[in-house]
Amino acid sequence: MGASVSVAQGAPLDAGTYKADEAAVERFCELLRIPTVSRENIAERDDEPFNQWIPTLQRLYPHFFKVAELTRVDDFGMLLRWPGADSALDPIVMMAHQDVVPVEGQDWKHDPFGAEIIDGEIWARGSLDTKCIVSAFLEAAEHLIAQGFVPPRDVWFFSSDGEEIAAPTATHAVQWLREHNIHPYMVLDEGGAVATDAPLGVTEPVAMVGVSEKGHVDLTVTARADGGHASTPAANDACRLLCRVCETISANPGKPQLTPAVEATLTELGARSSATYQAIFGNLWLTRPAVTKIMAASPETSAMLRTTYALTQLEGSNAHNVLPPVARANFNVRIAPFETIADAVERARKLAAQQCRASGVSPDHVTVEINEAIPYTEPAPVSPYEDDAAFNYIHRCVSGVYPEAGFAPYVQNSCTDSREFNEICDRVYRFCGFIYSGEARKLIHAANERIGVDVYKRGIEFYVAFLANLEQL
Ligand SMILES: [Zn+2]
Repeated sequence: MGASVSVAQGAPLDAGTYKADEAAVERFCELLRIPTVSRENIAERDDEPFNQWIPTLQRLYPHFFKVAELTRVDDFGMLLRWPGADSALDPIVMMAHQDVVPVEGQDWKHDPFGAEIIDGEIWARGSLDTKCIVSAFLEAAEHLIAQGFVPPRDVWFFSSDGEEIAAPTATHAVQWLREHNIHPYMVLDEGGAVATDAPLGVTEPVAMVGVSEKGHVDLTVTARADGGHASTPAANDACRLLCRVCETISANPGKPQLTPAVEATLTELGARSSATYQAIFGNLWLTRPAVTKIMAASPETSAMLRTTYALTQLEGSNAHNVLPPVARANFNVRIAPFETIADAVERARKLAAQQCRASGVSPDHVTVEINEAIPYTEPAPVSPYEDDAAFNYIHRCVSGVYPEAGFAPYVQNSCTDSREFNEICDRVYRFCGFIYSGEARKLIHAANERIGVDVYKRGIEFYVAFLANLEQL
């Protein structure tokens, strides 16, 4: 069992006397009113809001843009260098994205680009994902620079213009940094947050910091048969065979495994849970087999332990009375950090062949191939979280700004741009310094996305604490 990371080493680090005011909130609202909407088909994107973005930032945060050097990446991506006292030290990279997902077809109670404040909440697309990070970082930097603060080392801020459509902007930013021989000491991106209703019966808030993320690949399963008229069906028609193969794959995902990172998550969550959970998760050396079994049985916790195969698309005949010679399915596969894309493909192929044999047909009737049209990626390496100065630094800042919160590493199920930075940095953490309730997490990408004014203000304090205390790193 991994050592506990419950207690930060060193005193909590806070934002000093800084308190966010209404003007800071108004600047944030102004950014939320710029509809920087990403479109899967780039030709459908309205570039006008993206054109407005950088000039608006420059107007709202003049001190920062006076000292920072701006490098544009691709169309509207921003790489900003805030020079530190000693530029020879490896820099910090903080990142987010200014693009947002569309709102069409969603039922919003208030204008998604109005940023109206209603009952203490700011309603707007991007208020949680992730303009809050962009503006809180700039607000913090602006405040500190106005006070004469110079960071001890360079601080870079990267914001993508196409994170939501998996645009290569982050890849290109990393290429640029690599070409300029820049090796970040640490990267802090979106991902986890201070979760007020973490799973497993935890009643206290816990700052969940992503230390890795699962890989992702889409697989096309194709079944072939003779086809023919629907009046004479057979046992191994393409659609029937495909259904059996898909069910076999779905029912036999990767083996569940409690990795050290997952154990660390459970230990921290368990320590803040009921007596029962404390007993179970505090003694994993004893309870590991039972815990693995219980977690594997529920979809939410099962995904933490294994590679998952989600059957998302099925395609058969285009006529209601014709047996197709070919039937196809798509699996969206999320790969656990202890496996690779090759492992995930190999498992699906074995299961397909097994089902073909069980059905009495040759395994060459079914193929499993990577869908090359969709970007795919290996699981991210696990960033250090035990006895690590950078991880502990985040912990101290959390303790300073959110003294009521616990602190736990975790492996993310979803992908972020930060994985690109693993190419040039060993310490990549996914944490935005805001409180996200379970309800807030459900509003991401959905209708009625909104953030509490107080939540936003406290988030700025986290970024002030994080930047102002960097000499403690
Ligand atoms: Zn998003």
